[in-house]
Amino acid sequence: MRSMKVLTTVAEMRAARAELGGDLGLVPTMGYLHEGHLSLVARSRADNPATAATIFVNPTQFAPNEDLARYPRDLPRDLGLLEAAGVDLVFAPQPAEMYPPGFDATVTIGGVTDVLEGAVRPGHFAGVATVVAKLFNIVQPARAYFGQKDAQQSVVIRKLVRDLNLPVQVVVAPTVREPDGLALSSRNNYLTAEQRAAAPAIHRALSAAKARFDAGERDAETLRQAIRDGLAGFTLDYVSIADADTLRELDRIEAPALASLAARLGTTRLIDNLLLG
Ligand code: AMP
Repeated sequence: MRSMKVLTTVAEMRAARAELGGDLGLVPTMGYLHEGHLSLVARSRADNPATAATIFVNPTQFAPNEDLARYPRDLPRDLGLLEAAGVDLVFAPQPAEMYPPGFDATVTIGGVTDVLEGAVRPGHFAGVATVVAKLFNIVQPARAYFGQKDAQQSVVIRKLVRDLNLPVQVVVAPTVREPDGLALSSRNNYLTAEQRAAAPAIHRALSAAKARFDAGERDAETLRQAIRDGLAGFTLDYVSIADADTLRELDRIEAPALASLAARLGTTRLIDNLLLG
């Protein structure tokens, strides 16, 4: 069995990647891993002779009022999970390694970053696009794996790769859920017992809208309202029925659409989505 290498500097990571040779799959994460992350690792291992994961809580994708400081971290546990999952390389840099003094570059993706999460979290996707571009350049993967859970992020990364001609194939894998439907998230850890008990309503509401779509409903506002009706008592940042590629809000659904929402339970913000069609 190959043993897993853990690298913390860009130079070490580049050397380890060069030593490995061949196609590499990359699973970028912010750590505090769960079965959603591990499903991406499994998919990468099925597709590639070797797999790298990155663990980096990227400060530039958090706004000053967000949860950067309290974002959960447990590197030893994460490394144990990644080793057991058969990962070959882990890149786990400190912020100063990724953003040394004098760092002053931003990758901005237009259009699809202005809406939904981007509207509520200005600058978030510039932080994501910049760090993912850096990780692709450092790790040089043939393929990179992202979760449908963060649907808009996947759209942004696909656009990043297309617009900048990055030689990476983007693979988006299905959302992994708890038995009660709640999408796995490192942020579920913040929920009180009461909030955790309420949280499955998010997936229930999205599923109810999808059931109506599957039964023939094509009016987007009817579906948005169905979702809101299922989430009375939640504070909703947005409820969206948008074109799955452009993320523009729809009146009528005529092509694949994305039903997505962001809800706040106390101080915890949860997002989820389902594809329609
Ligand atoms: P994060 O650590 O939250 O930045 O997530 C790292 C990657 O795992 C992203 O591509 C996420 O979309 C993906 N991911 C997070 N939660 C899930 C989930 N429940 N199912 C599938 N993928 C997920």
